[in-house]
Amino acid sequence: MRRATARGALALGLLGLLTLASSGSGATRRATVAGGPRAALVDQRAIYLEATPLAGEGLLAFTRRFTGATEAYREIARLNRNPRKLLAGVRYRIPYEVLAQDWKLGAIRALFPGDRASAQGWLHTGGGELASVAAWFTGSERNLPALRAANAAGPERGTPERPVRVPNELLLQVFRWVAPAPLPAPSEAAAGGAAATPGGAIVAPVALPFAADDPARLLDYAEDETGKHAVYRLRPGEALYSAVVVRFTGRIHAEDVNALAVEIAKRSGIADVTDIPVGYPVRIGFDLLLPEFLPAGDPARLAWEAERRVADQFKNEARARGLEGVTVILDAGHGGADVGASSAGVWESLYVYDVMLRVKRRLESSTLARVHATTRDGSSFEVVDRDVLPYSRGHQVLTTPPYRIGDSTIGVNLRWYLANSIFRQARAGGDEKVVFVSIHADSLHPSIRGATVYVPSAALTGGQYGKSGTVFSSRKEYREQPTVSFSQRERQRSEGLSRDLAGHLVSSFRGSDLAVHPYQPVRDRIFRGRRAWVPAVLRYNAVPAKVLLEVCNLANAADRKLLTQREFREKVAATVVEGLLAYFGQNG
Ligand SMILES: [Zn+2]
Repeated sequence: MRRATARGALALGLLGLLTLASSGSGATRRATVAGGPRAALVDQRAIYLEATPLAGEGLLAFTRRFTGATEAYREIARLNRNPRKLLAGVRYRIPYEVLAQDWKLGAIRALFPGDRASAQGWLHTGGGELASVAAWFTGSERNLPALRAANAAGPERGTPERPVRVPNELLLQVFRWVAPAPLPAPSEAAAGGAAATPGGAIVAPVALPFAADDPARLLDYAEDETGKHAVYRLRPGEALYSAVVVRFTGRIHAEDVNALAVEIAKRSGIADVTDIPVGYPVRIGFDLLLPEFLPAGDPARLAWEAERRVADQFKNEARARGLEGVTVILDAGHGGADVGASSAGVWESLYVYDVMLRVKRRLESSTLARVHATTRDGSSFEVVDRDVLPYSRGHQVLTTPPYRIGDSTIGVNLRWYLANSIFRQARAGGDEKVVFVSIHADSLHPSIRGATVYVPSAALTGGQYGKSGTVFSSRKEYREQPTVSFSQRERQRSEGLSRDLAGHLVSSFRGSDLAVHPYQPVRDRIFRGRRAWVPAVLRYNAVPAKVLLEVCNLANAADRKLLTQREFREKVAATVVEGLLAYFGQNG
């Protein structure tokens, strides 16, 4: 971490004693830093953070929290007259020079709210001797001559009208221009860069570069010795798992969430992930961020935005009254020997099959859709009218001949061969209105509730694929077309239509007061560890509009309880049917 030089530390110590001795002389200005502590500017020369310890926090933990390491603890102790122990409610001073960069940025923002980064460097508006300005923003007074040179004939002190410019190459990382703000529309730029809102207020066009536009507005961006990262400050009631890991990294499986929480906590200097103070700056490496949370202009974010723009061109335009002429392929996840997720004796395979049956029954009784199921338990499609369902491993995939599910991978691959066969038949009969809905319940980090809808990412569904072996070649659907591959345009169209369908399903869930995933209910890939992929039942599926619906999280006790109630499963089924109707332009 950053270490003050021995000479610097001595000078700081002396300065600290002097300022304490002279405190109350009226030369101190204070401002509250986001997250609770205060920043103090003494005699226009020295900045301190003034912070209270957490319950039970000792000097070492306190030092680590604000400096990122423990080396500065003696210096902090000396500055505060060597307390025997830190007392709750008492503010202790930490010299600016040893602060972690995020807190430096926080203190500067609080004390000099007019300051901002720019492509030309940091623009400091708030006074202070040039030597101090050099120390605050570059880390050393030795950069004073270079700072003077950059401000030749400029002011000795910054003002809002004539800021002192600290060139990028001199700046500490945290003050550097990271991402250019999005360009204003040409007319606004021509008008001098200030945009009038409809209400007539003038909005300053220059955003702080560390705050990208939405949805990343929640984040600041910085760089430390580990690399570029986003900074999120926890709000009251938020936990690291859901508010940070699930939201910003997209990881939802318990092991991934836990592992990343540990990684992020370590990088952020957090010792106890269950006890993080409100406002604490949590650092998330760029390699972990979902692309939409990268700074505007970041290449990975631009690529993601471009992909979304292409996919969003494709929306379903087919309308179907009462779903007339629509073919719905319903797929219940797992089954047979493959019980899927299982939690407290609740097998995913049993309950999602029941939901599928209820969707099928509703479609057949209240719409004109043709319905195909990919699996069946026993010899008929019969809804068992019970809350807790009897155990069964009797599910088979309805290929010709059927496959009694013994191997989960074979079961999955036969489903898309079957779906593709049904799709070819429908298309041959002149019917293009085909949708595929696979119904699952997932097992995620227990903090997560509600439904998630997976769609196929166009970027992850390229290539040619086909299975081999007698279990496949003995089936009619396989022999019709053993391999699949899709053009880029087909994949983009499929992603777009599938997102459209997923959006209608999510709206329908929300409209029925059924829980959906709080942050990204529609996802185009599954993350596990550092890998990402599209589930096979979607990836090799030729039906253009296809989704995998996770109706709830079995690892969450409340969700699990709901799934074992037939009333909930019937409600989910009705909601799926409503979503299908809405996709075909039938809104209630
Ligand atoms: Zn599943």
